[in-house]
Amino acid sequence: MRHICVLGSTGSIGVSTLDVIRAHPDLFKVESLTAHSNIELLVKQCAEFKPKMVVIGSAEAANRLNDQLKNKGLIITVEHGADALVTASTLSSVDTVMAAIVGAAGLLPTIEAAKLGKRILLANKEALVMAGDLFMSAVSSSGAELLPIDSEHNAIYQCLPDANSSNGGSRGQYSSLGVKEILLTASGGPFRNHALDQLKEVTPDQACAHPNWVMGRKISVDSATMMNKGLEVIEAHHLFGLPAEQIKVLIHPQSVVHSMVRYIDGSVIAQLGQPDMKTPIAYGLGWPLRIDAGVKELDFTSAHDLSFEPVDLNRFPCLSLSYDALSSGGFAPTILNAANEIAVDLFLNHGIRYTQIAELVERVLQQTQVSGAMSLEGILEADSLARQHAQTLVKGLSK
Ligand code: NAD
Ligand code: MG
Repeated sequence: MRHICVLGSTGSIGVSTLDVIRAHPDLFKVESLTAHSNIELLVKQCAEFKPKMVVIGSAEAANRLNDQLKNKGLIITVEHGADALVTASTLSSVDTVMAAIVGAAGLLPTIEAAKLGKRILLANKEALVMAGDLFMSAVSSSGAELLPIDSEHNAIYQCLPDANSSNGGSRGQYSSLGVKEILLTASGGPFRNHALDQLKEVTPDQACAHPNWVMGRKISVDSATMMNKGLEVIEAHHLFGLPAEQIKVLIHPQSVVHSMVRYIDGSVIAQLGQPDMKTPIAYGLGWPLRIDAGVKELDFTSAHDLSFEPVDLNRFPCLSLSYDALSSGGFAPTILNAANEIAVDLFLNHGIRYTQIAELVERVLQQTQVSGAMSLEGILEADSLARQHAQTLVKGLSK
């Protein structure tokens, strides 16, 4: 039996994780759950999964949550705030952490659990983008098992030579095993064919209406701009130890081929499935065994038109910015991620136009110099500086 902490249990990945856990009560026990503000759903999850501990964003929310749990006769420790997220992920009874908080807020509870050698199921790609080297060295020094949940990385993990050894056993050595490159697929999002001169008019709701996947609003906007794919290139670099030149992106509008690995002998190995995150989640939860994910089978008897096309970087400047940040190294990926979180938030709240997301991220990258040590403190400082710069530089964008 595995003992699970779900960080971000009320989000899209968190809810799908609990769906898979629900179907296997003999395999999984929920120890802790965390949410930012959705008390109503968290109370329902507590009544069903009876964790030892839950965390919510604010003291005020924690009081309300406590009252509601007591009214239901549930005895569960309630804590609040960022430090409590770390408490939830590092409980001694927890052996597996689903990292499904969105954005930089997920870094500390995830890396602290990695330091303790717990199994990490990583959906929260931003944590790896902002602190990749530090995160991977925490994993290798503790011997933590790191299993990618992002569908592309989960696919690649399954297509690489040693999918049965976790924690990047041969990370950085794939070239010697005949791996030529990895091919990350991208749906192209809702604006793949949108007139370029109309992009500045698109609304948050249009940007969040992803053609194939149902996801949280931040990652939905990232998918529309393809910043999501850019973050995934950086994520793949850290997870698999491959340089940027060996990580390619391909548009595949049907989202059936989740990603591929090309070998030097001409073989290409792909992983296929429904666009349903329960498949990679079940892979991570059950690893090294396969368990039922409750996902509809792919039906090859109905026509499957699998098509691929190159990415138009004029349409998706965020992808170029990400490759640039990866090649600049240092704090550039941290700055890229922080600026993007602010830009997406502004866009979702009607503060900037869709096309200004890339503009703002580019300006912050150009104008933020950080020269601290590459420590956790240094990274959090760079993150905070880039957020402040984004809030200042947004004022210089044209209306
Ligand atoms: P979501 O917005 O649906 O859920 C986010 C969760 O994080 C919620 O439970 C929320 O309460 C919590 N949260 C938000 N801000 C917080 C904060 N400041 N402190 C503590 N908790 C906070 O997002 P999602 O779509 O489930 O995505 C979660 C992560 O998984 C993201 O990093 C995303 O990139 C990644 N991911 C998601 C998908 C998907 O299909 N949804 C696919 C691949 C990767
Ligand atoms: Mg993905």
